[in-house]
Amino acid sequence: MVREKSPYENTLETFDRVADLLELDASIRSLIKTPDRSLIVKIPVELDSGEIHDFKGFRVQHSTAMGPSKGGIRYHPDVTLDEIMMLATLMAWKTALFNLRFGGAKGGVICDPKKLSRGELERLTRRYTTEISTMIGPDKDIPAPDVGTNEQIMAWMMDQYSRMEKRAVPGVVTGKPILLGGSLGRREATGRGCYFTGLEAMRVLKMDPKSVRVAVEGFGNVGSITAGLMFKEGATIVAVSDSSGGIYDKKGLNIPLLIEHKQKTGSVLGFPGSDKMSKEDIFGVSCDILVPAALEASITKDNARDIRAQIIIEGANSPVTPEADEILEANNKFVIPDVLANGGGVVVSYFEWVENRQSFYWTENEVNARLEEKMINVFREVLALNQDKKIGMRMSAYMLAIRRLAEATQWRS
Ligand code: NAD
Repeated sequence: MVREKSPYENTLETFDRVADLLELDASIRSLIKTPDRSLIVKIPVELDSGEIHDFKGFRVQHSTAMGPSKGGIRYHPDVTLDEIMMLATLMAWKTALFNLRFGGAKGGVICDPKKLSRGELERLTRRYTTEISTMIGPDKDIPAPDVGTNEQIMAWMMDQYSRMEKRAVPGVVTGKPILLGGSLGRREATGRGCYFTGLEAMRVLKMDPKSVRVAVEGFGNVGSITAGLMFKEGATIVAVSDSSGGIYDKKGLNIPLLIEHKQKTGSVLGFPGSDKMSKEDIFGVSCDILVPAALEASITKDNARDIRAQIIIEGANSPVTPEADEILEANNKFVIPDVLANGGGVVVSYFEWVENRQSFYWTENEVNARLEEKMINVFREVLALNQDKKIGMRMSAYMLAIRRLAEATQWRS
């Protein structure tokens, strides 16, 4: 039997395809292909029971060619070093695509945050921060939230790092609470960016946002915000799913009420008026737009043919496997790739870092307007390359990003 390739192996293959298209020379290729450094740490934590449990964590810096590296921290039972290396690579491509003066990084801890008490989570986060403190810093590498982490985790990371430095260092993380130097609009930024790129794609395909039907896989930060903004725009959100299952309502789900329901019950299931379906059913739902906003590799060769949506907005990082991507391409789907669709998070993280450095904070309207401008400009840049070269939105985005990363590396070599 042929072994399935890992997410990172798939990313390396994609890199080689893009490097061939760009005709990159061998020395630059090897400099930018693999991470600059990867750290594996042991995180001993006293659980509430008194037992000491050794958690395992990672921090990977893919590249610092264009500036300090930037990337989220994931808390999830399935975290692996391979996954974090893949995500760090995507972060380097994303910051380059958006022309931010950042490199790419990612971190993670193998744990199930839902099963840890608040005290256990705090002790875990503080010890993890101490263990990776040699790598992070506002001029070196700046973490942010990702799956399983949030503004509270960022507050503890910022506090722990500040204690070690014996001064307040708000710029060591982004996605912090507003009172600790977080930026207005950061929490919503990734979903808002997905929404802006979705509107642009609808404009290209001459679809009316008020008459589209949308399905969203994953109803966390990214999925719920994207769904909420589409709902406000007048779209009909026919289906959503989370880790507990999916729900469907042909007439459309009321997203603000569904967010309240999820906050109260912990899942989307049981939302009044909706029908229950399995997590997998979301991919076959009759709709115009599909937003995968959960984890990587959810769209595979086994379900890609079921997808009825014309537009796929990759809220999640790497939600489509390479085999599935070929099927989507053959079926003429308009895919807004991860590095473009979900780049709003790192764009506003960059704003937050700038705000921290100058101790001057922008209004939410200013943040959202700058984000909108950036998302639309980058979308149009990717679209123009695609229209010119006919290589698909994904390869166009990756080409723009990797070319920039190669050029920056060349300057420093
Ligand atoms: P989150 O933890 O807030 O939400 C994840 C959601 O996915 C949860 O609702 C969870 O129940 C659901 N989920 C997990 N497994 C599922 C499955 N098999 N089927 C359906 N739903 C499932 O995380 P998030 O911050 O919203 O991140 C989601 C994705 O977006 C990740 O791939 C992340 O890397 C990417 N991303 C996040 C940000 C950000 O700013 N938060 C930025 C860029 C990219």
